Amino acid sequence: MQTSVSVVPGRYIGRFAPSPTGPLHAGSMVAALASWLDARAHAGRWLVRIEDIDTPRCVPGADALIMQQLAACGLLPDAAPLYQSQRSSFYQAALDTLVAAGLAYPCACSRSDIEQALAASGQPRMRHQELRYPGTCRHGLQGRPTRAWRFLTENCKQKRPPALIPHAQAAPDLVADQMLHWNDRRLGQQQQNVNQTVGDFVLERADGLWAYQLAVVVDDGAQGISDIVRGEDLADNTARQIGLQRALGLPLPRYLHTPLVLGSDGEKLSKQNGATALDTSQPIHVLAQAGQVLGLPAGLSAQTPADWLQQAVALWGRATKIDR
Ligand code: GLU
Repeated sequence: MQTSVSVVPGRYIGRFAPSPTGPLHAGSMVAALASWLDARAHAGRWLVRIEDIDTPRCVPGADALIMQQLAACGLLPDAAPLYQSQRSSFYQAALDTLVAAGLAYPCACSRSDIEQALAASGQPRMRHQELRYPGTCRHGLQGRPTRAWRFLTENCKQKRPPALIPHAQAAPDLVADQMLHWNDRRLGQQQQNVNQTVGDFVLERADGLWAYQLAVVVDDGAQGISDIVRGEDLADNTARQIGLQRALGLPLPRYLHTPLVLGSDGEKLSKQNGATALDTSQPIHVLAQAGQVLGLPAGLSAQTPADWLQQAVALWGRATKIDR
């Protein structure tokens, strides 16, 4: 079934949404630059959101460092950054809405429960493949009363059970078992059946932390983001996010996923395969390197980052037109 994607009407609002797990590296600078260029080329606003909900992974001070690195390269947001750590009540309200609509449920499965259930149903997990949730708790926690009872009574007060978007027999036109189709401005026509690839997914974790999927959708909606420009490693989350946007009645943004910078092992550049903190003492060099990954010419002659950015915006604008 074709699920058409309507688009936020009106003005362009873009964002860069780093997780403050360390300073920016060459790969994250590409996403930052692309989102900035795209916003400026379409006379839009550019916002920065610090995605600091996964607190154990956050590094104190990394947010300030990221803002300094961006500023050194002339990438200045149009408003003070939004911190996800301060937005719990909004995530809770969204989760309450989904639960009230019968679109999310508590789940008491551990990772090994899921692995065992998959193996028992003849669908063992392939290496590097995401664990597809088989829907064990979708119809209530019955069947495992002892474990479920223990989980709920022992953990509920401090740690909520994770809530997941169900297969949604209650609302088959929302998330359900259907192929979602959308257009990515760089990758072209995309499609995914969330139920078949990842299954119901976590919205709030057992340790009480909010899941990325829920927080990102709530905040993109609250900030009126019209265009999501981010690294291609995140492209696989898009269908889940479109499902949540639809379930929460939020407008659907446009998507553009940018090329990745690869590490020494051919995988996406990360701290594990050699990403080092970006040295922004020569900002034009940093911009030119990120620009090259985005297909901008290497030899823009510029005296200042602002100079370089002005030329890059003009080139970007010519290359990327958006239908409005
Ligand atoms: N916080 C995510 C990251 O740093 C990006 C989220 C997004 O752009 O949707 O990988």
